[in-house]
Amino acid sequence: PYEGPSGEEILRKRKEFLSPSMFFFYNKPLNIVHGRRQYLFDENGRRYLDAFGGIATVSCGHCHPEVVEAIVNQTKSLQHSTVLYLNNAITDFAEALASKLPNDLKVVFFTNSGTEANELALMMARLYTGNHDVISVRNSYHGNAAATMAATAQSVWKFNVIQSGVHHALNPDPYRGMFGSDGEKYARDVQEIIDYGTSGNVAAFISEAIQGVGGIVEMASGYLGEAYKVVRNAGGLCIADEVQAGFGRTGTHFWGFQAQGVVPDIVTMAKGIGNGIPMGAVVTTIEIAQVLMRRSYFNTFGGNPVCCAAGRAVLKVIDEEKLQENAFAVGTYLKQRLAALQHKYQLIGDVRGRGLMLGVELVTDRQFKTPAKAETLYIMDQMKDLGVLIGKGGCHGNVFRITPPLCFTKKDADFLVDAMDYTMSKI
Ligand code: PMP
Repeated sequence: PYEGPSGEEILRKRKEFLSPSMFFFYNKPLNIVHGRRQYLFDENGRRYLDAFGGIATVSCGHCHPEVVEAIVNQTKSLQHSTVLYLNNAITDFAEALASKLPNDLKVVFFTNSGTEANELALMMARLYTGNHDVISVRNSYHGNAAATMAATAQSVWKFNVIQSGVHHALNPDPYRGMFGSDGEKYARDVQEIIDYGTSGNVAAFISEAIQGVGGIVEMASGYLGEAYKVVRNAGGLCIADEVQAGFGRTGTHFWGFQAQGVVPDIVTMAKGIGNGIPMGAVVTTIEIAQVLMRRSYFNTFGGNPVCCAAGRAVLKVIDEEKLQENAFAVGTYLKQRLAALQHKYQLIGDVRGRGLMLGVELVTDRQFKTPAKAETLYIMDQMKDLGVLIGKGGCHGNVFRITPPLCFTKKDADFLVDAMDYTMSKI
């Protein structure tokens, strides 16, 4: 039983001692004290199905015993900065991670977060190409430091950062975009940005394969292939931000970009890489990695032994428990059930995504696609009371994000959809 302070007490302290900018879900935020696999438990021992934990813990589920054991064992033997001495934890994980990537994407840099990984990727692209301009996609999220906040393209996440050389291309959004699901048409905008907005040479193109924060928007089919071609013709490198879609989540592939048949020059990752342990990584080719030889690049904790031990255990568990296959099977089933709900309720404008990265967009009318913001908040809150936690996102805050730990089962999927169905039937 939990004997710590109550939720009210924690909230009071949080208001007094933590930044007022911190936000939380639900009218009355939950005090979560414990996690196991796809479940979270509050201070009263009440169990919740966690259908949003993927944004932090992804792969193996909360407190997976093998990952916990790897972290504990490594902590008992050594925790240090990895850069100065040899230690097998970092090389073993780098080797295992590189084996998951195609072609000659074999050189790994470890960081502490997704933001850091994308900052490093953008800097390397600028160094390698000698160009400055970067193209990212509207509605994307890439981080909260200077270059990554500039690349991020949703006003809610942007402060008045100096946005040097970044251009935001039309979002190839099959539901709301002007060219529907014709990816090649959207890619023409990338060419036009290069022609009209730059010297004709660019450093990089950066994109998620499925936008996470942006509300689970999968790039229209054929988009990445065309965009990569155009960018490479202008001398740029292609960066795939796999912070959310990576590590088997999309079910059909280990990496999100693979569904579009492309091979990036640089891949960035974080979140699920360590099952909740703070870590990120950049993987690229030896040729591109050489640019960091021009100066010294140092990152105190990037690739420390404890985080690497966690990462190594995560890859093992994903393979042993066939979590990518599970994401495909359960995700396909869940998407079918959500699509059936869409037939039942006009409120659901779109059901989309892949594997266990699914989105449900709510609109007050299907013709104009008016965002049903209040309904989204209300349903989320009601589902919490029924014991199901889901996320939300999108520029208008009207998209449910369903990104559970990859050990989610069909029974869990049924429980989630039944809870959503019941809640919607009461509106
Ligand atoms: N890229 C994507 C696609 C993300 O979703 C996020 C986090 N929401 C980031 C980068 C930044 O990661 P972090 O919060 O670890 O800095």
